[in-house]
Amino acid sequence: MKLWIGMDDTDSPNGMCTTYLAVLAMEELQKAGVEVIGFPRLIRLNPTIPYKTRGNGAVSFLVDTPELEIVMEIVDSTIQEFSELDHEDTNPGVVFVRNDDDILNTLSRFALRAVRDLVSMDEALFMIGRFMIPHLTYKKGRGLIGALASVGFEGEDFTYELLAYRKPERFGEEREINEESFFRADELYYPKTWDTVDWHNKAVVSVPNGPDPVLYGIRGSDFYSINKASEILKTEEVDRRMMFITNQSTDMHLIPEKEARELRNFHSYILSGLVVENPTVIRGGHVFFNITTKFGMLKCAAFEPTKQFRDVITKLVKGDHIRVFGSLKKDTLNLEKLEIISLVREKEYNPRCPVCGKRMESAGKNQPFRCRTCKTIAKEKVVEKIEREIEEGFYEVPPVARRHLSKPLVRMNVPKKHIFR
Ligand code: ATP
Repeated sequence: MKLWIGMDDTDSPNGMCTTYLAVLAMEELQKAGVEVIGFPRLIRLNPTIPYKTRGNGAVSFLVDTPELEIVMEIVDSTIQEFSELDHEDTNPGVVFVRNDDDILNTLSRFALRAVRDLVSMDEALFMIGRFMIPHLTYKKGRGLIGALASVGFEGEDFTYELLAYRKPERFGEEREINEESFFRADELYYPKTWDTVDWHNKAVVSVPNGPDPVLYGIRGSDFYSINKASEILKTEEVDRRMMFITNQSTDMHLIPEKEARELRNFHSYILSGLVVENPTVIRGGHVFFNITTKFGMLKCAAFEPTKQFRDVITKLVKGDHIRVFGSLKKDTLNLEKLEIISLVREKEYNPRCPVCGKRMESAGKNQPFRCRTCKTIAKEKVVEKIEREIEEGFYEVPPVARRHLSKPLVRMNVPKKHIFR
């Protein structure tokens, strides 16, 4: 019998990681003779969700087994032993779903909603009841939502991530890595791998900081290049590694304008509009501006961590036609990407006095312009070209500020890409 096992909400800010727990469960299942088929999947869900520990990731994998009970027992004991059950916000959930087209089709819609929307526990329990899905819950069992979604992920667009884990005795210690080796790996394998380092901001972005078991994660479009890149890395000893299929770098979270009926916080959108006024920079280096959208005026922000992306934003002017990509929080769209559709390149001015060279004044509606001093007259405004320091095309935040789900421009088949690397 082929079964999808999905799990979520096993970790806490104090440690663990659902991907690691899934790897441990897969090892235990294999020891018991259960066949694990293919790569596990790491699915990132709605990035704005308040309950998340870090990246709102859930994991699923496919097994072939004659006995459901054994599989459930093994997964249960792995969760009991390794998940952060003592932490008040850790509420694990696991599902065991038959590899059946009807169930998986329904769950794929559930998965899309869990990535783009808010899903209630009742909806998750409804799915469980409707398809009689065997499951395990601990405490509030909120992890059932992510567990079902990770099984339902269809994978129309997907990428890979190789996760390397630390020796358990090193958990919580500072990570020992040779930074240069990460830059070298990027030099050799970009663009088949991406977001390993950020050259401009001089940072390794593939190594987390927290107490979790992950040593590094290499993302990319083919697992051959990812493996090759990881062979170059010089780090403390790697304990285990696992290749995951993911929805990272796919923009799966963004709701296209034509599918949106209204704008709601905790949702992410692609929206087009005109810049209403020149952007303003506030203390701390955050940049704000408004655009008109078909839903009304929308405040957009490029926060300080988006670094050199802000230099593009501050050069926008009133009237520029743009498309914004990002998440709506506190009624403000946090920008992940920007398309400049067209820039304002001309501005109308009052004409200059041909004698003294000063700007003439308007004498009122339908009246000519006059220079009070020289008494000269002119009929029409003059149109002057404005020099722009930015151009049409796509811009993105740099790797240091990249969201898991955001599709880097290097993956996008669009003209005029301005890639920050
Ligand atoms: P990590 O990425 O390190 O595994 P995390 O950031 O995924 O941690 P979790 O501990 O898994 O955080 O907590 C996220 C919780 O939110 C889970 O219980 C999951 O089921 C739930 N959840 C995820 N997406 C949604 C959604 N769209 N609507 C409602 N609940 C959600």
